[in-house]
Amino acid sequence: MIISNYHSHSTFCDGRATMEEFVKFAIAKGLKHYGFSSHAPIPFDTPWTMVADDFPEYEAEFHRLKEKYKDSIELYLGLEVDYIHGCCDIKSEFFKNINLDFSIGSIHYLDCLGGNNYWSIDGPFGEFEEGLQILFDGDIEAGTRRFFEISGDMIEKGGFDIVGHVDKITYHGRKYKNFGLNKPEYQKLMLTLLEQIKAQNMILEVNTKSLADHGITYPHQTFYETIARMEIPLMVNSDCHYPTNITAGFDETYKALHKAGVRHLMQLTKDGWKKENL
Ligand SMILES: [Zn+2]
Ligand SMILES: [Zn+2]
Repeated sequence: MIISNYHSHSTFCDGRATMEEFVKFAIAKGLKHYGFSSHAPIPFDTPWTMVADDFPEYEAEFHRLKEKYKDSIELYLGLEVDYIHGCCDIKSEFFKNINLDFSIGSIHYLDCLGGNNYWSIDGPFGEFEEGLQILFDGDIEAGTRRFFEISGDMIEKGGFDIVGHVDKITYHGRKYKNFGLNKPEYQKLMLTLLEQIKAQNMILEVNTKSLADHGITYPHQTFYETIARMEIPLMVNSDCHYPTNITAGFDETYKALHKAGVRHLMQLTKDGWKKENL
């Protein structure tokens, strides 16, 4: 099988090493395909997104590395694009003027708390809890429903190739006693979203970023068999911010997916997306 990773960060956003350092590690780890996916610019400043003016430099560095390492690895240019309800998405003006090999659609913020302050679901727990209190009186079930509603909007609007960390709400959600992956209501929300992804013919990533520290992937392992049965196109990505994490959790996840009945993973090639054996 081809080992690949299409979800990665670098010093162009909040990654902790240069693009070239990531490429060197990727080659050392035996990867054959590697995609860069810095956090795309959004309409306000954050410490973790790329600045729009840096995109030409990101693109130029990508082309330099693609040529330099062409005999060892195939490199692809992408961005992880935020869907912020009522604020921005991949249909925004910035994306009309750039060329990417692929894009990931992700949610890190839900609703607006005032000004440019949005409810962060991916940051420190204190921020998550504060937003949940302001917007939903601390009701995690209501906050979870909102997460799936906005995720569904993102999928319906489309325009990107890969769905990033699909159920990221579990990262903080599972710390609340009323949050239950096995509750019928949660199962229904997740199933509806998976059906939307399937209908849009998008690729679902299995994101291993939280596996070592928290024992979970996005989507959660609970859903692997359902996803296999639905034959949703899949890929395994590490969402690495450090070069040493490029393949973190891959072996375990490949095995678990195979056990659940998954037999193919999607690969980006010079001729577009292809199914490869797992
Ligand atoms: Zn993300
Ligand atoms: Zn990411």
